[in-house]
Amino acid sequence: MDKARLEKYAALLVRSGGNVQKGQLVVISGSVDNAPFIRMVQGAAYDAGASEVRVDWLDDQVNRTNYLRADSKVFDVYEQWRVDKLKEQDDKGAVYLHVRSSDPDALAGVDADRLRRFAKVAGEATKEHRKLTMGSFRRWSIIATPSVAWAKKVFPDLSEADAMEKLWKYLLKGARADGNDPIADWVEHKKSFDARLDYLNAKQFDSLRIKTRIGTDITLGLVKNHIWEGGGDFDKDGIPFLPNMPTEEIFTMPDRLRAEGRVVASMPLSYQGNLIEDFEMTFKNGKVEKFSAKSNEATLANIIEMDEGGGRLGEVAIVANNSPIGQMNTLFYNTLFDENASSHLALGKAYPKNIQGGDKLSTEEFVKAGGNDSLVHVDFMFGTDDMNIWGIATDGTETHFYQDGEFVF
Ligand code: ZN
Ligand code: ZN
Repeated sequence: MDKARLEKYAALLVRSGGNVQKGQLVVISGSVDNAPFIRMVQGAAYDAGASEVRVDWLDDQVNRTNYLRADSKVFDVYEQWRVDKLKEQDDKGAVYLHVRSSDPDALAGVDADRLRRFAKVAGEATKEHRKLTMGSFRRWSIIATPSVAWAKKVFPDLSEADAMEKLWKYLLKGARADGNDPIADWVEHKKSFDARLDYLNAKQFDSLRIKTRIGTDITLGLVKNHIWEGGGDFDKDGIPFLPNMPTEEIFTMPDRLRAEGRVVASMPLSYQGNLIEDFEMTFKNGKVEKFSAKSNEATLANIIEMDEGGGRLGEVAIVANNSPIGQMNTLFYNTLFDENASSHLALGKAYPKNIQGGDKLSTEEFVKAGGNDSLVHVDFMFGTDDMNIWGIATDGTETHFYQDGEFVF
């Protein structure tokens, strides 16, 4: 991929994504496979006035070997120095930039119990940090770059070089970073969310009824005074940022106690380096009552059984079929991309910003208001081109506002 285009992508992450300010600490996490690009992001962060830029290097292979060969008790401990490091960064007001290129199968065959135990201790130890990021007290942004393993998974018939080039092209197009001025293009894109958000926020539906041909038929209660969000976020000082690039979704908070019916996934889900395929869940009183998956059911169980909130919903997000990613008709095996091609739900923690005054509520108050609390937040896709959604008002009247995969207002 041409260097000038990558420089623009790096600048987009720094300026529009994390919106790095003068004198700010920046923490980048990214794969060793993408070292040249990560260095560009570092340079762009200094150009934006960062005081210091740190890099947390990730390596799928090293991680995999550890899961396979390390002493089993390693996975029951999340060392205090890791927690202290996050706290030191958070105290300094760090901005977090994540560059993701993981192989969707990186941890295939690894003991699911090791993954479950470590996810649990890590989740508990980093709770304070997650509160800051999910509550928008700290800015953060995630983008994706290709790796060979990922590119070959998406385009198995191409050579490594061709698959990499094609995945770069698709990722940049999907992230609206293929034009001459991606930063300006995102200013326009952000405006396009307003009409949908205004409409749904004014309606304040009591619940949504959602159906698809492949078997989803579910009624989701929405919390009182819910807020539909989309097209980016603002931190507590009012500084705008884009947690995800791409982003095409509008999303809000389901009531943790009011989901009734069946949800059939429309795409596989890569979680903990394992691909969960052909899965479905049935909800009763907001909780998963039964579930099944054709492959990696144990990985799905790791999410649902993580804690009390793992088997409840924390997000309902609607995406129109006509988004650029939807138009590519490609399965990316990557949540950042697939979730912006398809309507989705999240198991686990809800975002405080999806309810009025949410960031001022204690965890107990948040849960009482219907917000879900959990160590996990995992999006999975259930949207199809024939999805239909009805909004149901408190008096029972129905509005069919989304028909066959498109908004109709
Ligand atoms: Zn989402
Ligand atoms: Zn989500």
